[in-house]
Amino acid sequence: MEKFLKQNGNQGSSSKTPEFVELDDLPSDPADRKPISTYDLNQQDEIRRTYLLRGPCQPSGVAFPYRMIGNNSRRFPVTWYTNFKGWLEYNDRVYCLHCYLFKDQVRNIQEAFISEGFNDWTRQDKVQCHQGEFNSLHNKAFKMGEDLLNQD
Ligand SMILES: [Zn+2]
Repeated sequence: MEKFLKQNGNQGSSSKTPEFVELDDLPSDPADRKPISTYDLNQQDEIRRTYLLRGPCQPSGVAFPYRMIGNNSRRFPVTWYTNFKGWLEYNDRVYCLHCYLFKDQVRNIQEAFISEGFNDWTRQDKVQCHQGEFNSLHNKAFKMGEDLLNQD
């Protein structure tokens, strides 16, 4: 009986530390990615660096699907890749690489471009708004990315 209880106790207090992951196995697709905070704390910067070196997920040469917005049929404007260089990601919707990577370090960061994604293809102004001015939360995250890559 005593032994049984002990085993039970051990199980209950078993460490929740996540295991290290293979960097090559990290999913590139914004829809498949796990929050950085779910990875082992000691591996998080390495994971961030891996994603930064890969660059944003920007599939090209694909037939971006049309959807009705108001009375018009619109699709992802591929010019957004260049208009929002270095961070904008696409997979059916658009996401932000840097806000995903540094969500835990930047308070009140805009969740829309991390988990929900954005797909109103008529509203480039909204994407511009996410990027914001020099001191925006997005640019804080972007700067953290640059700093992390410069650390070596
Ligand atoms: Zn962002």
